[in-house]
Amino acid sequence: MSADDRPLLAWASDHWSFPLPPAHPFPLEKYRLVRERLLADGVLAPEWISRSDPAPREWLAAAHGSEYLDRTFGEGWTAAEVRRLGLPWSRELVQRASAAVFGTVMASRAALEHGIAGNLAGGTHHAFFDHGEAYCLFNDVAVSIALLRREGRAQRPFVLDLDVHQGNGTAAIFAGDPSVFTFSLHARHNYPTHKQRSTLDVELDDAAGDDSVLSALDAHVPAALDAHAPDLVFYQAGVDALHTDRLGRLRMTHEGLAERDRRVFAWLEARRLPVVIMLGGGYGRPIETTVEAHCNVWRAAREARQCRPRC
Ligand SMILES: [Zn+2]
Repeated sequence: MSADDRPLLAWASDHWSFPLPPAHPFPLEKYRLVRERLLADGVLAPEWISRSDPAPREWLAAAHGSEYLDRTFGEGWTAAEVRRLGLPWSRELVQRASAAVFGTVMASRAALEHGIAGNLAGGTHHAFFDHGEAYCLFNDVAVSIALLRREGRAQRPFVLDLDVHQGNGTAAIFAGDPSVFTFSLHARHNYPTHKQRSTLDVELDDAAGDDSVLSALDAHVPAALDAHAPDLVFYQAGVDALHTDRLGRLRMTHEGLAERDRRVFAWLEARRLPVVIMLGGGYGRPIETTVEAHCNVWRAAREARQCRPRC
């Protein structure tokens, strides 16, 4: 097999749909659109994409409390919980969120074997041990790390979170655990109002733009990778820093985000670090702008995949 046709394995969960009220802002369709575009453009081959099953509750319990899981699986959310999550409870929603976790778990195992793999969902970094927030029911990274550790792998994971919002749930879950490095670059004035403390938070002001973001990454990412010496990187590659995003504030261009991803994969490649990619946030209008940005992450991953030596 040549370097060009080695698989870039990915997991998808868009076949699990869930009901939303009319005009709800959650971009449910983008996951399907991203998968379809990646296939149409030949970035991913059909045989590289697996369908995610719902993760078993036992997996979710590796990172979430039993009371929260009881409420979640039993239609027992309080009205305040529904408000905080921004999504109405449904059995289908829980199924879909569980499948997104499954995808990151499977992609993390594949990344350790193949160098790069990813999830066409996930990056649900606002989920805490005992509650969900902001469209995030379960923390896929925390579940994946817990399961890998049970298997004796990924002892020093690194979470590179470049979504425009702070990875508050991930930061809180791993607070006080120096073996996990949580890196979050985000817009200072964005949700969440009350920030958690990541291992390293890099905060940028509104309308920072491409140059400021890229300079901040240059200043902090390579040094953080070298300081921690990870054995696996989780890349939350959210694209809600895009200028068309209704929740983003950093006003990045497509070119800036693409450069972000090229640099990230180059830094990881230089250190021979396996990486699992998660989709993360993206709420552009029109949604096609966000789809394009998510696909660019995978294009950069494909290029990086082709540069890696055979695993
Ligand atoms: Zn976000």
